[in-house]
Amino acid sequence: MNHEAFRELLLARQAALQDQHRDAADNRAPVALDQQSLGRLSRMDAMQQQAMAVATNARRLHEMRAIKAALIRIEKGDFGVCDECGEQIAEQRLRLYPTITLCIACAEALEA
Ligand SMILES: [Zn+2]
Repeated sequence: MNHEAFRELLLARQAALQDQHRDAADNRAPVALDQQSLGRLSRMDAMQQQAMAVATNARRLHEMRAIKAALIRIEKGDFGVCDECGEQIAEQRLRLYPTITLCIACAEALEA
C-alpha cells in the first residue's frame, strides 16, 4: 500500500469523523438543571448521556488530531517511519492503525 492509498484512507476516516462531530453537536450541550419537564431520574439520565457524549467527543478530537499529523507526515515523506528508532513500521500495523507513529518493538519497549 503506497502513501497515496494511506492518504485516501486517512481522508475518508477524517470525513467520517467530521460528519459524526457535526451530528453529535446537540448531544454535548449542557443539560438544563431547572427544566420542569424533566423528572429527577430522566435528568440524571440526560446528564449521564451528556457526559458520555463529551467523552466520545474527546476521543474523536484526539483521533482527528492524529489523522492531521499522519497527513502531514505523508506530505513530508516520513509517513510509516518509527518516531523512536527510524525504522519502517510494518505495513500490516499501519493498515490497522494508520495514525500510529511507533513500530511494534518500540511500542512494546515503551509499555514495558
Ligand atoms: Zn521503532
